[in-house]
Amino acid sequence: MTDVIHLLPDHVANQIAAGEVVQRPASVIKELLENSIDAGGTNIKILVKEAGKTLIQVTDNGNGMSVTDARLCFERHATSKINTAEDLFSLKTKGFRGEALASIAAIAHVELKSRQEDDEVGTCIKIEGSEVVSQEVCVTPVGTTICVKNLFYNIPARRNFLKSDTVELRHVIDEFQRVALAHPSIQFSLFHNGSELFQLPEANYRQRIVNIFGGKTNEKLVPVEEDTAIVKIHGYVGKPEFAKKGRGEQFFFVNERFIKSPYLNHAVTAAFEGLLKDRAYPSYFLYLDVDPKSIDINIHPTKTEIKFDDEHALYTILRSSIKHSLGQFNVAPVLDFDRDSSLDTPYEFSQKGITPPKVEVDPNFNPFRTERSGGGYNSSNFRREKAAGSWQSLYNGLQGEGNETSSGITQVEFESDEVTGNLFGLGDAGETGSTTFQLNKKYIVTTLKSGILVIDQQRAHTRILYEELLKNITVTSAVSQQLLFPLKIQFSTNEMELLKEIKDSLEQTGFIFSEVKKDSVEISGIPTLISESEVEILLEQLLLDLENEVPGSGFSQVDTLSKSLARGMAVKSGTVLNSAEQQNIVNSLFACKESTLSPFNKPVFITLTVDELDKKFM
Ligand code: ADP
Ligand code: MG
Repeated sequence: MTDVIHLLPDHVANQIAAGEVVQRPASVIKELLENSIDAGGTNIKILVKEAGKTLIQVTDNGNGMSVTDARLCFERHATSKINTAEDLFSLKTKGFRGEALASIAAIAHVELKSRQEDDEVGTCIKIEGSEVVSQEVCVTPVGTTICVKNLFYNIPARRNFLKSDTVELRHVIDEFQRVALAHPSIQFSLFHNGSELFQLPEANYRQRIVNIFGGKTNEKLVPVEEDTAIVKIHGYVGKPEFAKKGRGEQFFFVNERFIKSPYLNHAVTAAFEGLLKDRAYPSYFLYLDVDPKSIDINIHPTKTEIKFDDEHALYTILRSSIKHSLGQFNVAPVLDFDRDSSLDTPYEFSQKGITPPKVEVDPNFNPFRTERSGGGYNSSNFRREKAAGSWQSLYNGLQGEGNETSSGITQVEFESDEVTGNLFGLGDAGETGSTTFQLNKKYIVTTLKSGILVIDQQRAHTRILYEELLKNITVTSAVSQQLLFPLKIQFSTNEMELLKEIKDSLEQTGFIFSEVKKDSVEISGIPTLISESEVEILLEQLLLDLENEVPGSGFSQVDTLSKSLARGMAVKSGTVLNSAEQQNIVNSLFACKESTLSPFNKPVFITLTVDELDKKFM
């Protein structure tokens, strides 16, 4: 008989454990940041190169480590944070497993420098694939710097599995934001390839949110505050009118730890019930403090899931406190004399000119006539056809009709009258061809030699714009309309990163960026097909679509860009089109390379032949 069981050598065990803890550069950032916070750091600086694939360096001004600790911290299950299993139930620190540094050291080149306040000199240790390469005395400030180079250098499969720098950097930024939001009193900075992405000063919660997500966030936040025996809640929810099309800014923190909880997310959504448009997600930054005894965070090494003792009570408390806040601060009108009232004007409205109110008089109205029959006073006659049209169009899209939706891409809604205003300045192409008419403000009907053609106006226009944009980006560049006053739009850091990537393509479509800053752009020219008031929402939607796509290949990005812009710019169902506009759509559609399908692969038109008609009359 031979024995086959043996203990795995440490470095192998560490590598296996690393698979659990470190999936990508962002996981390393998370672990290092948490260690720095546990060590009492108040100023934490992060340097990242190539999205963390080649370098991640975290420097803190925390307690530092002694010579022995500096060596021990790379051993598995080496931790200063708990002694007994009971300690788990009163956990105040983020780490407790003593696994992170051991795991990271197993799969990267790690260099640690650390000094405690009472020591004159510090320790510098280099370790590669769990092997200590060198350990020496060094001069270093109080605190710890850990430098992680060449992640997964000894596991090519994992390294190849990493996504593009753009994607990995997005994960890094996500992780960074989560930690930074949880600890506003700590200073953080993040640099990528030498350029500064974030510089966050010591702040309160609200300031921290604004510092991360941009100045325009401030006016959107509604405070939430609740204090019960089970849970203390504080934080902010976004006003319903600013709800996003994607789940971008949704954050729960439990005892200063970012967590994901579909259940609690549902509680928030439930509180917003009736206040949100279809497929809009509220933003929230909610901080829950509970007794550490009532939660179990020991479920997963990456620790974003959490188990609560009394989830149901938490749900109810959360929902009702948000409802209360929304009622108090938002839905019910409030008088607040300290506020600048211009902040309350939604963006689109502040862009619009002021139109004097029109007084409309119903000449048939007779206040002394009581009976409504008999053809005299009839309120529905009074409303002018045009007004009725635009009024109805406001509801367009809410019923989900004609939605150009596929692969999770959502539809942008505009007030159609505004948008179509300048869409058809392409000359009077129509009037001469066959006649067209509009059905239900949605379909354009025209005759063929041997039948009729019913065209979905929105899909058709989306197709036309899509091909035009694609051509502009790839072949010829489009002309711009110069803006009298440059438009300044703020974006989050993540959005800015994406925007920089597609800037060239956008310029091909006619955008002119006069200034690109860290958190905003100034636009001095836009494509002729767009009106100024829709630029911001178009770009926001575009960035969202790009984020949802798997980026990487240049073509798919250009394609997504064209699709997204085309969908946003296209004339919507519910818009009245005059006959020239109808003609224009028909002609341009059949000049397209592909006229039968929308860019989202939905049929654009149907035909009804005389034969088919004949059959129906049999
Ligand atoms: P854990 O955080 O679960 O304890 P780690 O492997 O992340 O496990 O870290 C091991 C130990 O190394 C910690 O318990 C802590 O004592 C020490 N340590 C790690 N990072 C730092 C730091 N930035 N400053 C001071 N001590 C640190
Ligand atoms: Mg740790």
